[in-house]
Amino acid sequence: MTSSYLKIHPWKIIEEGFDKTRVKSSESIFSLGNGAMGQRANFEETYTGETFQGSYVGGVYYPDKTRVGWWKNGYPEYFAKVLNAPNWIGIDICVNNTVLDLNQCKSVLNFRRELDMNSGIYTRSFEVQIDSNCKIGVKVERFLSMDEDALGIINYQINALEGTCDLSVESYIEGKITNQDSNWDDPFWNHLSSSHSDNLMILKSQTSKTAFDVATFAQTHLINPQGEMVSDFESSSKDFRINQSKKQNLQEGEQCAILKFGGYINGMNHQPETFESIAQHLVEQARTKGIETLIEDQKIAWSTIWEISDIEIYGDDAAQQAIRFNIFQLNQTYNGKNSKLNIGPKGFTGEKYGGSTYWDTEAYCLPFYMATKHGEVGRNLLKYRYDQLDKAIENAEKLGFDKGAALYPMVTMNGEECHNEWEITFEEIHRNGAIAFAIYNYERYTGDMGYIPEMGLEVLIGIARFWAQRVNYSTHQKAYVILGVTGPNEYENNVNNNWYTNYIAQWCLTYAASQKEKIAVEHPQRWSEISRKLNWEDKEDQHWKTIADQMYFPKHPTQNLFLQQDGFLDKNLEPAFSIDPKERPINQNWSWDRILRSPFIKQADVLQGFYLFESYFDRESLAKHFDFYEPLTVHESSLSPCIHAVLAARLDKIEKAYELYLQTSRLDLDDYNKEVEEGLHITSMAGTWMSIVEGFGGLRIRNGEVHIDPKLPKAWDSFSFKINFRGIIIKVHVSKEKVTVDRSNPELIVYCNGKSLDALGNEKDF
Ligand code: BGC
Repeated sequence: MTSSYLKIHPWKIIEEGFDKTRVKSSESIFSLGNGAMGQRANFEETYTGETFQGSYVGGVYYPDKTRVGWWKNGYPEYFAKVLNAPNWIGIDICVNNTVLDLNQCKSVLNFRRELDMNSGIYTRSFEVQIDSNCKIGVKVERFLSMDEDALGIINYQINALEGTCDLSVESYIEGKITNQDSNWDDPFWNHLSSSHSDNLMILKSQTSKTAFDVATFAQTHLINPQGEMVSDFESSSKDFRINQSKKQNLQEGEQCAILKFGGYINGMNHQPETFESIAQHLVEQARTKGIETLIEDQKIAWSTIWEISDIEIYGDDAAQQAIRFNIFQLNQTYNGKNSKLNIGPKGFTGEKYGGSTYWDTEAYCLPFYMATKHGEVGRNLLKYRYDQLDKAIENAEKLGFDKGAALYPMVTMNGEECHNEWEITFEEIHRNGAIAFAIYNYERYTGDMGYIPEMGLEVLIGIARFWAQRVNYSTHQKAYVILGVTGPNEYENNVNNNWYTNYIAQWCLTYAASQKEKIAVEHPQRWSEISRKLNWEDKEDQHWKTIADQMYFPKHPTQNLFLQQDGFLDKNLEPAFSIDPKERPINQNWSWDRILRSPFIKQADVLQGFYLFESYFDRESLAKHFDFYEPLTVHESSLSPCIHAVLAARLDKIEKAYELYLQTSRLDLDDYNKEVEEGLHITSMAGTWMSIVEGFGGLRIRNGEVHIDPKLPKAWDSFSFKINFRGIIIKVHVSKEKVTVDRSNPELIVYCNGKSLDALGNEKDF
């Protein structure tokens, strides 16, 4: 089933044996993050082999000037790039005058990496024959504190296995770092100062152009063979590299440990004048606690996270490992504490997608964070877009829209559009719909009726105004049409009347009009503020309703089927299995021209609409559309299999759902797309969660009530998941025989297959 070099284990990701060709992939897989910062699993000691260095600070970016062959008016000036930040993890080791470098060692024995997802601790160990007289064993524990956003911890232990070792240790901060993804090789960082007093290294830097202040700090201690902590390192600094050096002799059988505390203090959260005192406080606190307590704290923090978010799968360890890996990575990427941060498609595991925010957040990630965290987290994700509404209005103005129409960007860091492929920047406008839908979804799930009057309505109005201007009335169709778009299926560009786009536009117009009416009645004072602020024109909403009522949808002439876009039936509609497997993925093997002419669908498009707007279509219609579109789908976006898995489960195609589940959940662990070196697919991991909770669990919230419709794949003995529904923790356990639902407040009624499970009866035969 799995083709991975990684071992299957329910709670751990394990790699055994050293293989240089896997280093970059493992650097992605074993990445660490704590929501505020993250880093690839680069080695601490020198490594001269192929590696992809990456350490990132949330929200800090560089506006890299757009580089395109043919400039089109309306292109954004820059593409935001997440920055590779100064390296604080570096610890160079020299043993008997030989540099420890796994690329140069004759043999690396017992190499092992282990990521313990239960505790959030990453361990790497190996043995190396340094010379004919000396062999050492190394064990490194590393983690980024879940309690202290700015703090990371390394415990680098060296054991003299054979012979005597003269160790020379150089722990450092390196400012000379670059991004692999850079348009013009600009220097992204300006280093301002480096200092090393009181055994604390601090490199203060500022990003070019964006002027983000960041301090990289680290402090090193040595636990000598007698178990004493010594901190008398010799410090020096040159060209923005700061070193702390120390020598230590180890007799055979002795061991020592280098303890390094370090990380980044982000000027988004603290004043630069306070950087030193904050760093000093963090390292002092860490030193006082000691490694055992720090590890204990980390375990407690993760156990709190797992307490609500864990999904258990019995009888299928590969599936179990995969879902935990996905949940683990989502928690490493975003914790919802800071509404200025968001979820990049690669999180903190690589540079691709620039670390920026995509529609992925609203369309895929929001349900996971709403259900596994407290309400404020979902609200913060929504607030992020509210805070960028002015930029979305400016963005629409740049494209020629006016009167407060808002077009949210396809890719952004601060609200400005960064994507510069015309077919996406100008045409993939369905993203606006996902942002409106998220507001509806948030209110539906959380029951927070305060969000829409407070913030959401302004966003809905901006979005509705955009659609009202983006449509045009076709006298030929006698309906409103939307021309020149790219739908979610990016293997079609510049099409007319993409069904999904027209549908979500219609929905947005209707929903915005209904919310406007509601708020005007229920919160008249707030409505008068909003209407003044947004220069509301009388009957704007009437016009929205007219457009919505007369929206055009492409349909099959004889069958009851919506077409993906105008002219779709002219395609040679052969199924995806007819493609020679050697030519898959087609985006790596076919010309773009061939892809555009083909019928093949990159990711759910019409079916994305059936997923979001499920309640508007009956099962028969869903089945018909699934059977028509899924066979044409090549699932070459990581966001594709999960949506299909949820729909397949709804249609009782359980084995199909299971196959798609494995594809989405083990995408990175098994490296299906041969690109894990670049980083992990973080946003699709939330889709994996949906595949289980909404797919096999059948969770839906309807009229403020919780409904489940559980289905068990053959390969599983049972599974369980938990959700936080409006402060009540619900645990659903599905076995071959029965469904059990426990809730922290037994008053809450949960509906299973349409029948209520009341306070006493929490079980149902399956
Ligand atoms: C998908 C988009 C997605 C982006 C980032 C693309 O391959 O087609 O829908 O937003 O990746 O995940």
